[in-house]
Amino acid sequence: MDLFSIYRQLGLSEKVWALGEEITAGLRERFQEIDAVAEYNQAKVLAAMQDCRIGANHFAATTGYGYNDDGRERLERVYAQVFHTEAALVRPQITCGTHALTVALSANLLPGDELLSPVGLPYDTLQEVIGIRPSPCSLAEYGVAYRQADLKEDGSFDYDAIRTAITPKTKLITIQRSKGYATRPSFTVAQIGELIAFCKSVKPDVICMVDNCYGEFVETIEPSDVGADMVVGSLIKNPGGGLAPIGGYICGTRACVDRCAYRLSAPGLGQEVGANLGILPAFYQGFFLAPTVTAGALKGAIFAAHLYEKLGFRCVPSAGAVRSDIIQAVELGSREVMVAFCKGIQAAAPVDSFATPEPWDMPGYDDPVIMAAGAFVQGSSIELSADGPIRPPYAVYFQGGLTWQHAKLGILMSLQKMADAGLVSL
Ligand SMILES: *Cc1c(COP(=O)(O)O)cnc(C)c1O
Repeated sequence: MDLFSIYRQLGLSEKVWALGEEITAGLRERFQEIDAVAEYNQAKVLAAMQDCRIGANHFAATTGYGYNDDGRERLERVYAQVFHTEAALVRPQITCGTHALTVALSANLLPGDELLSPVGLPYDTLQEVIGIRPSPCSLAEYGVAYRQADLKEDGSFDYDAIRTAITPKTKLITIQRSKGYATRPSFTVAQIGELIAFCKSVKPDVICMVDNCYGEFVETIEPSDVGADMVVGSLIKNPGGGLAPIGGYICGTRACVDRCAYRLSAPGLGQEVGANLGILPAFYQGFFLAPTVTAGALKGAIFAAHLYEKLGFRCVPSAGAVRSDIIQAVELGSREVMVAFCKGIQAAAPVDSFATPEPWDMPGYDDPVIMAAGAFVQGSSIELSADGPIRPPYAVYFQGGLTWQHAKLGILMSLQKMADAGLVSL
């Protein structure tokens, strides 16, 4: 059976398939550049694992307190080496990205301190963590004040506003690399480096933290290579390589990471406790695969931008733009088109392909959110997934795909469902 016959069985029409082939043919050079970044990052991870002398004995499960867990400690050394930081906290006890960020913030901010976001409003779930939207146990409740400097109209940093917002009380600056559910550009590591240098020139002892979600391994350097004191992310995004079933990481200075460990477990215990419960093989192997998995997701994002721009939809980032994360936003203009798009992503999944995504009021989010994911790890967004809050400009945020080939099929199916519903003409 030829390839298209299989695709036809999966519901793809000849027209959509042909359009996909045309787009793919034009992306060869771009994909070569992505493969070169993946090769560099693969070497970086491999070198760290060899240097830390990882052996099969480090995959053993521990239970109870988890004292002297050599496998856990070496994994944290591998992360620290790859991110070029003094220390790392990589744990299944960190339940998600929001939790990792919460630990990093609440460990390093005390009552009376000020937190500053120099890049506009942070990611939806962080708004309750900070207390921008009132919430029990928010930082605001504990007496941590929040300031914000918005980006300029063109998406660049507003250095004058940032200088004004930094006060003697500013303790920590949070910089979100990826756009999240906003339609602003994501920042390259070099841009983040400039911003950190500026903030430290105004207040040398300020802690700079980067929300690195979706950014890991997209470039050959990470925010910790350009001055970040902490980089934070989720293991069910890029660095888990699709294999980690839970977890988060915080890499940074020894002083910052120590405090995070005391916050995560307990003062006095810190990094010494936390049984690995047998999860280490997935963490190690996932991290080993993460550079190539991220590369596949990146190819999918670029393919989606080229396809949908050709059909007249606004894409953020635009098809030709330099990338700093794996997220592709496509502004679809209406709820109906968002639903059709997500149905296509769902229909292409290896798991739950028969389910139909519907908008729902998800905890932590202000508007109803639609999510499409047929993932091996529930909610994993390094796997092929699409989601977005139902609000203008009705942008769907597409990301992931454990392989480029699967990402491609998913995007073609999203277009197919839009075409089937008569919402787009080809
Ligand atoms: C996903 C994400 C988070 C939160 O991660 P969860 O694992 O969903 O809690 C925070 N910031 C950004 C930019 C993200 O993309």
